[in-house]
Amino acid sequence: MNPFAPARDFLDLTLQGHTPQQTSWHTPALQAQWLGHGLLQLTPHAANPQQEQILLSTGIHGNETAPIEILNSIINDLLNGALPLACRILVVLGNIPAMQSGKRFVDYDMNRLFDGAHAKQPDASEARRAAELEQAASAFFAAAPAGAPRRHYDLHTAIRGSVFERFAIYPFIHERQHNREQLAWLRAADVETVLLHSKPAATYSYYTSERCGADAFTLELGKARPFGQNELARFTGIDRALRERLSGHGTTATPDISGMRLFKAKYDIVKHSGEFVLHLADDVENFTALPHGMTIAEDVEVRYVADGGEERILFPNPKVGIGLRAGIVIEPASLD
Ligand SMILES: [Zn+2]
Repeated sequence: MNPFAPARDFLDLTLQGHTPQQTSWHTPALQAQWLGHGLLQLTPHAANPQQEQILLSTGIHGNETAPIEILNSIINDLLNGALPLACRILVVLGNIPAMQSGKRFVDYDMNRLFDGAHAKQPDASEARRAAELEQAASAFFAAAPAGAPRRHYDLHTAIRGSVFERFAIYPFIHERQHNREQLAWLRAADVETVLLHSKPAATYSYYTSERCGADAFTLELGKARPFGQNELARFTGIDRALRERLSGHGTTATPDISGMRLFKAKYDIVKHSGEFVLHLADDVENFTALPHGMTIAEDVEVRYVADGGEERILFPNPKVGIGLRAGIVIEPASLD
């Protein structure tokens, strides 16, 4: 039985904008609940209350198709019994109109609208969806057994190339400790570079980290390409690691994070005026090194100069609006 018929599967149904004939059903291994467009919760029948509760989101940027395809294939395997499920999961396909039109967003970048920021952009179509996705995450984790570990992996691909092809952003965790087991798992997923963020952000992963107490990560898994044009072979690490984790085999008792590249944000480059100039090539890759003394950017009254020789650039974008971040200067970091 295909509960999504006449659509092929969950992704196909979501892209068609349809509601399934049944919103709740059982397979021999699990209960599936369609909670709304792009929202699917799977609960194993043999649930252990101490098992992980995992939120898997993708398509927060509609044109980042590879992780959407990977996640959809994992869901198909969970539903047809090819992959066992050991933990309760919520799958979120984020920006459906942007996915339908192959765009990063329709009105406003959704991953700048979480943790309440949607209230400041009431006219953007993404604002209502961001509020819905916050609600979905909060409800999912609120229904989790007390003490069960909470995780959120928000899967993306980046606009530009990267010196380190795959990387994670670990949202600012205030007084909490970084989770070494999670970092070791990221390494096993071929994500060996991590930015430890140092201040709050309006991203989905910051929201679930701060408001839901999840170990949450934004994962940048390669370069964005249209549906059907992804070299899925470049994504085998995350695919394998997710499948292991979901089936209860992903954790290790002795996390080893040696060899991982950890960075922290040093400061944001802010575009203060229309005079702003970024002295980096349009196609400069993320994590490009900034030699000591180099002028990175200039504005009317500010000059950003690289210092020390260990700095690198992340998310450079001179086209942002005035007052917004045009890049992050980062530097090496270590865990306390
Ligand atoms: Zn993205």
